[in-house]
Amino acid sequence: MSRRLALALVLGLGSASGAAEAPAAARTAPPDATAVAWDRDSLEYAAVCSEVYRSGLRYVREFVKKNPGLKNWCVVLDIDDTVLTTAPFRVAEGGRAFNECRWIKWNQSHFLDPVPGAKRFLDGVRGLPGAHVVFITDRRPAMLERTRMNLRRAGLWGKGDLLIGQDTPDDSKQKRRQECVERAIDPRCKAAGPMMIVALFGDQALDFKSLHGGEARSARDRIIRDGAWDPRYFVLPNPMYGAWTVGYSTEKWRAENRNCP
Ligand SMILES: [Mg+2]
Repeated sequence: MSRRLALALVLGLGSASGAAEAPAAARTAPPDATAVAWDRDSLEYAAVCSEVYRSGLRYVREFVKKNPGLKNWCVVLDIDDTVLTTAPFRVAEGGRAFNECRWIKWNQSHFLDPVPGAKRFLDGVRGLPGAHVVFITDRRPAMLERTRMNLRRAGLWGKGDLLIGQDTPDDSKQKRRQECVERAIDPRCKAAGPMMIVALFGDQALDFKSLHGGEARSARDRIIRDGAWDPRYFVLPNPMYGAWTVGYSTEKWRAENRNCP
């Protein structure tokens, strides 16, 4: 059996069960098998991730050097496909469209591996004076204890780190960055106090700023035309899924990712 055919079988390409479970009107296409395989198997994926984190560490070190009076500052990182790779879950799903209930259940009995380069980056940041690490994820509060265990197991968790999940559907990442991290008026960040965000790491536009629908498409045009992308933003590659699959529609993206009662 060829490797390509074997992979297709593992990922359930064209499986009848997948087609039956994913109502076409409500879902975008399930993750492409090639995208999942690239993430899981390619040296190119590992190299790009390592390079992004290496550049990120260089940027942060340089920033701290140029601002010696910096006190309470942090780096903000997303979790899924930023510091932990979800490819094994996608493989286990056999090509089915994302289902949050299955995702939560799967996480109760599995741990995810770190994204290449993430540990070296975090270890490097923690060695700098005044540094804090803040993880902001849209994982539900019930998943956070297990998430912390996974981060610890992957060597990514450090003393004093913050892990901020999504409490309600309106608890956007932008809101958490501003009210929790930068202003500390949110109880989840009160103890840490207001922190300056020096750099952000994510695999989705919303990990960096509030960009929806046409705003995201315009931002893409400006990047292509002028290279207009904030130097504090470090993007990890994720060809498996993303708001780009639904034209950056908040409603559609929420419907696809908040589909567990
Ligand atoms: Mg992510």
